[in-house]
Amino acid sequence: MSWNRIVPPAPTQTHCPYCSLQCGMTITRGAAGPGGSTGRRPGLEIGAWVDFPVNEGALCRKGWAAGGLRGSRERLTTPLVRDPGTGELRAAGWDEALDLVAGRIRVLQEAHGKDVVAVFGGGGLTNEKAYQLGKFARVALGTSQIDYNGRWCMSSAASAGNQVFGIDRGLPFPLADVEHADVVVLVGSNLAETMPPAARHLDRLRERGGRVVVIDPRLTPTGERADLFLQPVPGTDLALALGVLHLLDARGAVDEAYVAARTTGFDDVRRAAAAWWPERVERTTGVAADELRALVTLLAGAAASAGGERSDRRPRVMVLTARGAEQHAQGTATVLAWIDVALALGMPGKPYAGYGCLTGQGNGQGGREHGQKADQLPGYRMIDDPAARAHVAGVWGVPPESLPGKGRSAYELLDSLGQHDGGKALLVLGSNIVVSAPNATRITRRLESLDLLVVCDLVLSETAALADVVLPVTQWAEETGTMTNLEGRVVLRRQALSPPDGVRSDLDVLAGLAERLDAPIAFSTDPEEIFAELGRASAGGRADYSGISYARIADEKGVFWPCPSAPEGQAQHPGTPRLFADSFATPDGRARFVAPEYAGPAEQPDPSYPVHLTTGRVLAQYQSGAQTRRIRDLADDGAFVELHPLLADRIGATDGRPVVVRTRRGEMRAPARVVTTIRPDTVFVPFHWVGANRLTNDALDPVSRMPEFKVCAAQVLVPAS
Ligand code: SF4
Repeated sequence: MSWNRIVPPAPTQTHCPYCSLQCGMTITRGAAGPGGSTGRRPGLEIGAWVDFPVNEGALCRKGWAAGGLRGSRERLTTPLVRDPGTGELRAAGWDEALDLVAGRIRVLQEAHGKDVVAVFGGGGLTNEKAYQLGKFARVALGTSQIDYNGRWCMSSAASAGNQVFGIDRGLPFPLADVEHADVVVLVGSNLAETMPPAARHLDRLRERGGRVVVIDPRLTPTGERADLFLQPVPGTDLALALGVLHLLDARGAVDEAYVAARTTGFDDVRRAAAAWWPERVERTTGVAADELRALVTLLAGAAASAGGERSDRRPRVMVLTARGAEQHAQGTATVLAWIDVALALGMPGKPYAGYGCLTGQGNGQGGREHGQKADQLPGYRMIDDPAARAHVAGVWGVPPESLPGKGRSAYELLDSLGQHDGGKALLVLGSNIVVSAPNATRITRRLESLDLLVVCDLVLSETAALADVVLPVTQWAEETGTMTNLEGRVVLRRQALSPPDGVRSDLDVLAGLAERLDAPIAFSTDPEEIFAELGRASAGGRADYSGISYARIADEKGVFWPCPSAPEGQAQHPGTPRLFADSFATPDGRARFVAPEYAGPAEQPDPSYPVHLTTGRVLAQYQSGAQTRRIRDLADDGAFVELHPLLADRIGATDGRPVVVRTRRGEMRAPARVVTTIRPDTVFVPFHWVGANRLTNDALDPVSRMPEFKVCAAQVLVPAS
C-alpha cells in the first residue's frame, strides 16, 4: 500500500505540523469556511481529535491555523532555477531542475571529492525522511558532511542523557505523568506558550495540591502558573543546580540508599557542590539565598506533599529542562547538573518522578535517531562503531567500508562552507538557516559563497531565496509519515489532502537525485516501505523501532520506543512508555552522576555591551517562522525587544518606539516592549524573524556542539532617527 498517494475519506485523524507535542487533530476535506481561528479554510477544516491522549482535543493557535498555507499564493508549485544571465530565479520543470542538481554535484565531486557536497536536514522532517536523508548522504552522495538543525535544539540534553542514563529519550515517561508528581521543576521552559495543551498537566497537578517551580529570566505565562518562580541571570542555571545539590546534601536530604543502589559517581558531585553555598549562588545567579532554600525545602519534602496525605514519604519530584537550560556553551553540563539533582533525590525510574527534556521541534526526537546527525546511523547507532556500520550497511545492501565516517556538527558544517576544506554545495531539507543559524550574518555569507545551494521547501523562505535551485515539496497533511513526539511516542501523521499540482515529496526528490547520481541502490518513495526498512536498520539499536508498524500505531494511538520485534510465534513487544524502573541503559545498569564545573556564559557583559541578550519563542509563531509568518490567522506585529522599565528609563526607550540591539556580531532594530516581567539587566528578542540570530553567539558546547543561543552580551539604545 502506498500511504503517500491515497487520500483517505474525511475526517482524517492526523497530527499538527509543528511542535514536539504532535497534538492529534482531524482534517476534513471539502468544508467551506470563513477562515479565522476556527481552523476553517475553503476545502479544509481542522477539528479536535479528543481521543488522542497527548492533547485530548486541545490545540494551540498554531494548530488551529495549520491549514493556512493550503491554497496560499506563497506556496511554491514549480521548481525554480537561478538563471546565470539575469541572476534571478525562474520556473523550471522537475527533470530540468533535478538534472541540473545531479550534474553539478557530479562535476564538483569529481573535482574535489565526495565531501564537497554537504547536506542539512531538519527536526521537522518525518522519521522516514530523516532516515532516507541520512542514507542518501552516505550512499548516494558518499559524503560524511550531514547534520541537521536539531543539533541547535536539544542536543545538550541528548548528550547528557546518553552520559547519565545510557539512552537519549526526551521524556522517559508519558507527559500525563506530570500531573501525578508532587513537585515539578521547569528549568528554562515556557511550555504555556510554546505548547499550551501541555500546560493543563501543571494545572491539574496544582489542583491536586502539587507544586510547580519555574526557573526563567523572564516571568512568562508558565512562570505565572508557578508556586515558586526563580529569575536567574541568563546562563547561570548550572550554578543554581549546584546550589540545590549543596543544600540537599547539607540538609541530609540526599537519598543515600538510592544513590548506593542505582548510581555511580556521587562523591565527585558532592565535592563539586560543596563550594556552592547559598550566598555564593546568590552572587552568581541573582537568585536570593532564601529563594534557593525555599526550592530545596520543596524538593526535600519538608512541606506537605500533594494533598497533604503523603507527608511520610519523599515528594515525587520531576525536573524538566528545555532550551533555556540547554542552548548554552555549557548546555550539557547544565543538564547534567539538573539530572544530578533528580538522582540525588532518588527520582529517575520511580513512578511520576525523574528527569525529562521537553523537546522542541516536531520530530526533534525521531530526527536524531535515524541518521541525519553527523555521528549517527539509524537506531541511534554510532557511525564509528564497526558493528553498527556492518548492521546498517547490511540492511542497505552496500559494503560497510563504503560508508563515510563522522562529519561536522551543524554549525561547524555551515561555517566551513566555501572555505578551503569545506563544502562547495549544500542540499537543505526542512530548515531555514538564514533565520535560525547563530551568528546568522556570517553563516549567510557562507551560503552565498557556495557553488551550488539547493533548497527543498514549501515557500520561498529566506534561505530558499538564496538558492540556485529551489524544489517545491509537500507539506504535512499532503503526505504520510511518522513522527516521534517528546515522549518517545511514534505517531502516524496521515495524509489528508492531495498535494497541489507540481509539488513532490522530499522522498521523491531524494529518489530522483539518487537515480541520476547512479546510486548503487534504489531509493523508495513509499513511506510505509521506508518505515519498515528503518525498523530493520534500527533493530538492536538503542532506538529500536523494529516492532512498530503503521497498523500498530494507528490501532494504539502511538507506540513508545524501544519496541523490538518479537521472535516468531511470540506476542509482540508492547512498547516502552516508561524507562528505568529496574535499571538504566548503561553497561552496569546504574546511572552515572557527572560532576559539572560552572564556567559561566562564553560572553559576559562589559562596559561596551552591558546587558544580557536572550532569545526565545512567542505563542503564534513556530521556529524560523517560514510557515507561520505566512499564515494570516497568525499575523502579529513582528519582532520586538522586551526590556524592563528601569533599563528603558536609563536609555530613554519608550514602549512601542524603536530600539536597536547590538552585539559583537550584528544589530537589529525593533519596537521596544517595556515590561516588568524581565530582569532589568536582560533584554529578550523572539527568534522567528530575521535579525535575532544576527546577534546570537556561535560559541559551542564542547560535547553537544550546541551554540549558545540563549545568552550573549549586548547593548541596547534608542536610534537617532
Ligand atoms: Fe499542539 Fe504544538 Fe501544534 Fe500547538 S504547535 S497544536 S502545542 S503540536
